[in-house]
Amino acid sequence: MKLIDGKAISQQIKDEVKDKVAKMKAEGKEVALAVILVGDDPASAVYVGNKKKACEYTGIRSESYELPADTSQEKVLALIDELNNREDIQGILVQLPLPKQIDEKAVIDAISPDKDVDGFHPVSVGRLSIGEKGFLPCTPAGVIELIKRSGIETEGKHCVVIGRSNIVGKPMALLMLRENATVTICHSRTKDLKEICKSADILIAAVGKPKMVDRSYVKEGACVIDVGIHRLEGKKLCGDVDFDDVKDVAGAITPVPGGVGPMTIAMLMKNCAESLEA
Ligand code: NDP
Repeated sequence: MKLIDGKAISQQIKDEVKDKVAKMKAEGKEVALAVILVGDDPASAVYVGNKKKACEYTGIRSESYELPADTSQEKVLALIDELNNREDIQGILVQLPLPKQIDEKAVIDAISPDKDVDGFHPVSVGRLSIGEKGFLPCTPAGVIELIKRSGIETEGKHCVVIGRSNIVGKPMALLMLRENATVTICHSRTKDLKEICKSADILIAAVGKPKMVDRSYVKEGACVIDVGIHRLEGKKLCGDVDFDDVKDVAGAITPVPGGVGPMTIAMLMKNCAESLEA
Protein backbone atom coordinates (compact mmCIF):
# COMPACT_ATOMS: atom_id res chain seq x y z
CA MET A 1 0.00 0.00 0.00
CA LYS A 2 1.24 3.44 -0.90
CA LEU A 3 0.52 6.17 1.65
CA ILE A 4 -0.22 9.42 -0.21
CA ASP A 5 1.59 12.10 1.77
CA GLY A 6 -0.46 15.29 1.56
CA LYS A 7 1.82 17.06 4.00
CA ALA A 8 4.89 16.57 1.80
CA ILE A 9 3.05 17.31 -1.47
CA SER A 10 1.43 20.48 -0.09
CA GLN A 11 4.85 21.63 1.13
CA GLN A 12 6.27 21.04 -2.35
CA ILE A 13 3.47 23.15 -3.87
CA LYS A 14 3.98 25.96 -1.34
CA ASP A 15 7.69 25.96 -2.13
CA GLU A 16 6.94 26.17 -5.87
CA VAL A 17 4.61 29.10 -5.20
CA LYS A 18 7.28 30.76 -3.03
CA ASP A 19 9.79 30.56 -5.91
CA LYS A 20 7.28 31.88 -8.38
CA VAL A 21 6.27 34.80 -6.15
CA ALA A 22 9.95 35.68 -5.60
CA LYS A 23 10.56 35.69 -9.37
CA MET A 24 7.53 37.92 -9.88
CA LYS A 25 8.80 40.29 -7.19
CA ALA A 26 12.12 40.49 -9.01
CA GLU A 27 10.15 41.64 -12.07
CA GLY A 28 8.37 44.25 -9.95
CA LYS A 29 5.06 42.35 -9.71
CA GLU A 30 3.50 41.76 -6.31
CA VAL A 31 0.79 39.22 -5.47
CA ALA A 32 -1.76 40.18 -2.82
CA LEU A 33 -4.73 38.37 -1.31
CA ALA A 34 -7.55 40.12 0.55
CA VAL A 35 -9.24 37.97 3.19
CA ILE A 36 -12.62 38.99 4.61
CA LEU A 37 -13.81 37.48 7.88
CA VAL A 38 -17.20 38.48 9.30
CA GLY A 39 -17.93 37.60 12.93
CA ASP A 40 -15.97 35.61 15.46
CA ASP A 41 -16.56 31.95 14.63
CA PRO A 42 -13.53 30.23 16.23
CA ALA A 43 -13.09 27.65 13.43
CA SER A 44 -13.18 30.40 10.78
CA ALA A 45 -10.63 32.42 12.77
CA VAL A 46 -8.29 29.40 12.76
CA TYR A 47 -8.73 28.93 8.98
CA VAL A 48 -8.05 32.61 8.32
CA GLY A 49 -4.99 32.49 10.58
CA ASN A 50 -3.64 29.50 8.63
CA LYS A 51 -4.23 31.27 5.32
CA LYS A 52 -2.33 34.33 6.59
CA LYS A 53 0.55 32.11 7.70
CA ALA A 54 0.70 30.42 4.29
CA CYS A 55 0.74 33.87 2.63
CA GLU A 56 3.67 34.90 4.83
CA TYR A 57 5.53 31.70 3.92
CA THR A 58 5.03 32.06 0.19
CA GLY A 59 5.66 35.82 0.08
CA ILE A 60 2.09 36.69 -0.90
CA ARG A 61 1.00 39.95 0.71
CA SER A 62 -2.22 39.45 2.67
CA GLU A 63 -4.69 42.14 3.66
CA SER A 64 -7.14 41.12 6.27
CA TYR A 65 -10.59 42.62 6.88
CA GLU A 66 -12.06 41.42 10.16
CA LEU A 67 -15.60 42.76 10.47
CA PRO A 68 -18.01 42.50 13.43
CA ALA A 69 -20.74 39.80 13.40
CA ASP A 70 -23.52 42.39 12.86
CA THR A 71 -21.97 43.87 9.68
CA SER A 72 -24.64 44.47 7.02
CA GLN A 73 -24.62 42.78 3.62
CA GLU A 74 -24.34 46.19 1.94
CA LYS A 75 -21.14 46.89 3.82
CA VAL A 76 -19.58 43.57 2.77
CA LEU A 77 -20.66 44.11 -0.85
CA ALA A 78 -19.23 47.64 -0.82
CA LEU A 79 -15.89 46.30 0.45
CA ILE A 80 -15.84 43.61 -2.27
CA ASP A 81 -16.59 46.25 -4.89
CA GLU A 82 -13.68 48.36 -3.65
CA LEU A 83 -11.34 45.33 -3.70
CA ASN A 84 -12.55 44.30 -7.17
CA ASN A 85 -11.45 47.71 -8.42
CA ARG A 86 -8.04 47.78 -6.74
CA GLU A 87 -5.20 46.88 -9.08
CA ASP A 88 -2.93 45.94 -6.19
CA ILE A 89 -5.24 43.09 -5.07
CA GLN A 90 -5.18 39.89 -7.15
CA GLY A 91 -7.30 37.57 -5.02
CA ILE A 92 -10.38 38.04 -2.82
CA LEU A 93 -11.48 35.43 -0.33
CA VAL A 94 -14.54 35.63 1.90
CA GLN A 95 -14.38 33.11 4.72
CA LEU A 96 -17.58 31.05 4.91
CA PRO A 97 -19.97 30.57 6.64
CA LEU A 98 -21.30 34.14 6.93
CA PRO A 99 -23.67 35.44 9.65
CA LYS A 100 -27.41 34.98 8.98
CA GLN A 101 -28.13 38.53 7.77
CA ILE A 102 -25.74 38.09 4.84
CA ASP A 103 -26.68 36.13 1.72
CA GLU A 104 -23.69 33.95 0.83
CA LYS A 105 -24.68 33.67 -2.79
CA ALA A 106 -24.91 37.46 -3.19
CA VAL A 107 -21.42 37.79 -1.70
CA ILE A 108 -19.85 35.08 -3.88
CA ASP A 109 -21.53 36.53 -6.99
CA ALA A 110 -20.11 39.98 -6.18
CA ILE A 111 -16.46 38.83 -6.32
CA SER A 112 -14.89 39.48 -9.71
CA PRO A 113 -14.32 36.10 -11.45
CA ASP A 114 -10.77 37.33 -12.17
CA LYS A 115 -10.08 37.52 -8.40
CA ASP A 116 -12.14 34.50 -7.36
CA VAL A 117 -9.27 32.45 -5.86
CA ASP A 118 -11.71 30.11 -4.05
CA GLY A 119 -13.25 29.17 -7.41
CA PHE A 120 -16.83 29.38 -6.11
CA HIS A 121 -18.18 32.10 -8.47
CA PRO A 122 -20.71 30.83 -11.05
CA VAL A 123 -18.38 32.02 -13.84
CA SER A 124 -15.50 29.93 -12.41
CA VAL A 125 -17.85 26.93 -12.09
CA GLY A 126 -19.01 27.44 -15.69
CA ARG A 127 -15.45 27.73 -16.96
CA LEU A 128 -14.56 24.46 -15.24
CA SER A 129 -17.57 22.68 -16.70
CA ILE A 130 -16.89 23.78 -20.29
CA GLY A 131 -13.12 23.28 -19.99
CA GLU A 132 -12.02 26.95 -20.10
CA LYS A 133 -9.13 28.25 -18.01
CA GLY A 134 -10.31 29.69 -14.70
CA PHE A 135 -9.86 29.39 -10.94
CA LEU A 136 -10.42 25.86 -9.64
CA PRO A 137 -11.94 25.19 -6.20
CA CYS A 138 -9.01 24.45 -3.91
CA THR A 139 -9.97 21.13 -2.27
CA PRO A 140 -10.83 19.16 -5.45
CA ALA A 141 -7.90 20.76 -7.30
CA GLY A 142 -5.70 19.60 -4.40
CA VAL A 143 -6.96 16.05 -4.84
CA ILE A 144 -5.91 16.13 -8.51
CA GLU A 145 -2.40 17.25 -7.49
CA LEU A 146 -2.20 14.42 -4.92
CA ILE A 147 -3.19 11.87 -7.54
CA LYS A 148 -0.87 13.21 -10.25
CA ARG A 149 2.15 13.72 -8.02
CA SER A 150 1.74 10.20 -6.61
CA GLY A 151 1.98 8.76 -10.11
CA ILE A 152 -1.57 7.37 -10.13
CA GLU A 153 -2.92 6.82 -13.63
CA THR A 154 -6.35 8.37 -14.29
CA GLU A 155 -6.91 7.91 -18.01
CA GLY A 156 -9.60 5.33 -18.73
CA LYS A 157 -9.90 4.46 -15.03
CA HIS A 158 -13.23 4.22 -13.26
CA CYS A 159 -13.47 6.98 -10.67
CA VAL A 160 -16.32 6.98 -8.17
CA VAL A 161 -16.97 10.18 -6.23
CA ILE A 162 -19.23 9.88 -3.17
CA GLY A 163 -20.82 13.31 -2.65
CA ARG A 164 -22.26 15.95 -4.99
CA SER A 165 -21.78 19.21 -3.09
CA ASN A 166 -20.91 22.36 -5.03
CA ILE A 167 -17.59 22.80 -3.23
CA VAL A 168 -16.28 19.23 -3.35
CA GLY A 169 -18.25 16.45 -5.06
CA LYS A 170 -19.39 18.14 -8.29
CA PRO A 171 -16.14 19.96 -9.16
CA MET A 172 -14.21 16.81 -8.17
CA ALA A 173 -16.17 14.78 -10.71
CA LEU A 174 -15.61 17.42 -13.42
CA LEU A 175 -11.87 17.52 -12.73
CA MET A 176 -11.57 13.74 -12.92
CA LEU A 177 -13.49 13.82 -16.20
CA ARG A 178 -10.94 16.35 -17.45
CA GLU A 179 -8.23 13.83 -16.48
CA ASN A 180 -9.96 11.33 -18.78
CA ALA A 181 -11.35 9.09 -16.05
CA THR A 182 -14.77 7.49 -16.46
CA VAL A 183 -16.67 9.11 -13.63
CA THR A 184 -19.63 8.00 -11.50
CA ILE A 185 -21.10 10.39 -8.93
CA CYS A 186 -22.90 8.88 -5.93
CA HIS A 187 -25.06 10.60 -3.32
CA SER A 188 -27.58 9.88 -0.58
CA ARG A 189 -30.18 8.51 -3.00
CA THR A 190 -27.78 6.20 -4.86
CA LYS A 191 -28.83 2.57 -4.92
CA ASP A 192 -26.21 -0.17 -4.54
CA LEU A 193 -23.60 2.31 -3.30
CA LYS A 194 -21.22 -0.41 -2.10
CA GLU A 195 -21.27 -2.31 -5.39
CA ILE A 196 -20.62 0.87 -7.38
CA CYS A 197 -17.75 1.88 -5.07
CA LYS A 198 -16.30 -1.62 -5.31
CA SER A 199 -15.95 -1.20 -9.06
CA ALA A 200 -13.83 1.97 -8.66
CA ASP A 201 -10.14 2.13 -9.55
CA ILE A 202 -10.13 5.52 -7.80
CA LEU A 203 -12.60 6.08 -4.97
CA ILE A 204 -13.03 9.61 -3.67
CA ALA A 205 -15.04 9.99 -0.45
CA ALA A 206 -16.58 13.42 0.19
CA VAL A 207 -19.63 12.24 2.05
CA GLY A 208 -19.29 13.95 5.43
CA LYS A 209 -19.88 10.77 7.49
CA PRO A 210 -17.07 9.66 9.84
CA LYS A 211 -15.44 6.34 8.81
CA MET A 212 -18.40 5.37 6.60
CA VAL A 213 -16.25 3.82 3.88
CA ASP A 214 -14.83 0.53 5.12
CA ARG A 215 -13.14 -2.28 3.18
CA SER A 216 -16.49 -3.60 1.93
CA TYR A 217 -16.60 -0.55 -0.40
CA VAL A 218 -13.10 -0.94 -1.78
CA LYS A 219 -11.72 -3.02 -4.65
CA GLU A 220 -8.35 -4.70 -4.01
CA GLY A 221 -5.61 -2.32 -5.15
CA ALA A 222 -7.86 0.76 -5.62
CA CYS A 223 -6.68 4.28 -4.87
CA VAL A 224 -8.74 5.74 -2.01
CA ILE A 225 -8.89 9.49 -1.46
CA ASP A 226 -10.51 10.71 1.75
CA VAL A 227 -11.76 14.31 1.67
CA GLY A 228 -13.68 14.08 4.95
CA ILE A 229 -12.57 15.77 8.14
CA HIS A 230 -14.22 15.03 11.46
CA ARG A 231 -13.10 15.72 14.98
CA LEU A 232 -13.83 12.77 17.24
CA GLU A 233 -14.23 13.01 20.99
CA GLY A 234 -10.80 13.39 22.50
CA LYS A 235 -9.95 15.76 19.59
CA LYS A 236 -8.58 13.02 17.30
CA LEU A 237 -9.26 13.64 13.61
CA CYS A 238 -10.73 11.08 11.23
CA GLY A 239 -12.07 11.08 7.69
CA ASP A 240 -14.99 9.58 5.76
CA VAL A 241 -12.87 6.43 5.29
CA ASP A 242 -12.12 3.90 8.01
CA PHE A 243 -8.38 4.10 7.38
CA ASP A 244 -7.32 1.12 9.54
CA ASP A 245 -9.88 -1.15 7.93
CA VAL A 246 -9.17 -0.05 4.33
CA LYS A 247 -5.40 0.35 4.33
CA ASP A 248 -4.58 -3.31 3.64
CA VAL A 249 -7.02 -3.53 0.71
CA ALA A 250 -6.20 -0.23 -1.01
CA GLY A 251 -3.30 0.15 -3.42
CA ALA A 252 -2.89 3.78 -2.34
CA ILE A 253 -4.66 5.84 0.31
CA THR A 254 -4.64 9.31 1.87
CA PRO A 255 -4.49 9.51 5.67
CA VAL A 256 -6.49 11.94 7.85
CA PRO A 257 -4.87 14.14 9.00
CA GLY A 258 -2.05 14.69 6.53
CA GLY A 259 -3.85 13.79 3.29
CA VAL A 260 -6.28 16.10 1.48
CA GLY A 261 -6.50 18.59 4.38
CA PRO A 262 -3.19 20.44 3.89
CA MET A 263 -3.73 20.61 0.11
CA THR A 264 -6.57 23.13 0.29
CA ILE A 265 -4.46 26.04 1.51
CA ALA A 266 -1.55 25.09 -0.75
CA MET A 267 -3.89 25.26 -3.76
CA LEU A 268 -5.24 28.61 -2.56
CA MET A 269 -1.66 29.92 -2.63
CA LYS A 270 -1.19 28.42 -6.11
CA ASN A 271 -4.40 30.12 -7.32
CA CYS A 272 -3.17 33.46 -5.95
CA ALA A 273 0.20 33.16 -7.66
CA GLU A 274 -1.44 32.22 -10.94
CA SER A 275 -3.92 35.10 -10.78
CA LEU A 276 -1.31 37.49 -12.16
CA GLU A 277 -1.02 35.38 -15.29
CA ALA A 278 -4.75 35.67 -16.06
P1 NDP B 1 -21.86 18.05 2.13
O1 NDP B 1 -22.53 17.63 3.39
O2 NDP B 1 -22.21 19.34 1.49
O3 NDP B 1 -22.10 16.89 1.02
C1 NDP B 1 -22.10 15.54 1.34
C2 NDP B 1 -22.52 14.72 0.14
O4 NDP B 1 -22.52 13.35 0.50
C3 NDP B 1 -23.91 15.05 -0.38
O5 NDP B 1 -23.90 15.10 -1.79
C4 NDP B 1 -24.77 13.87 0.12
O6 NDP B 1 -25.80 13.51 -0.78
C5 NDP B 1 -23.76 12.76 0.17
N1 NDP B 1 -24.12 11.76 1.17
C6 NDP B 1 -24.46 11.99 2.47
N2 NDP B 1 -24.73 10.83 3.08
C7 NDP B 1 -24.57 9.85 2.16
C8 NDP B 1 -24.69 8.44 2.19
N3 NDP B 1 -25.04 7.80 3.31
N4 NDP B 1 -24.43 7.76 1.06
C9 NDP B 1 -24.08 8.38 -0.07
N5 NDP B 1 -23.93 9.73 -0.16
C10 NDP B 1 -24.19 10.44 0.93
O7 NDP B 1 -20.31 17.96 2.42
P2 NDP B 1 -19.05 18.63 1.63
O8 NDP B 1 -19.04 18.18 0.24
O9 NDP B 1 -18.99 20.06 1.95
O10 NDP B 1 -17.85 17.93 2.43
C11 NDP B 1 -17.65 16.53 2.43
C12 NDP B 1 -16.60 16.18 3.49
O11 NDP B 1 -15.38 16.79 3.15
C13 NDP B 1 -16.92 16.66 4.91
O12 NDP B 1 -16.45 15.71 5.83
C14 NDP B 1 -16.13 17.96 5.04
O13 NDP B 1 -15.79 18.24 6.38
C15 NDP B 1 -14.92 17.63 4.21
N6 NDP B 1 -14.24 18.80 3.62
C16 NDP B 1 -12.89 18.81 3.69
C17 NDP B 1 -12.17 19.84 3.12
C18 NDP B 1 -10.69 19.80 3.18
O14 NDP B 1 -10.03 20.82 3.11
N7 NDP B 1 -10.08 18.61 3.28
C19 NDP B 1 -12.83 20.98 2.46
C20 NDP B 1 -14.26 20.82 2.35
C21 NDP B 1 -14.92 19.76 2.93
P3 NDP B 1 -27.09 14.45 -1.11
O15 NDP B 1 -26.57 15.48 -2.09
O16 NDP B 1 -28.07 13.51 -1.72
O17 NDP B 1 -27.52 15.04 0.20
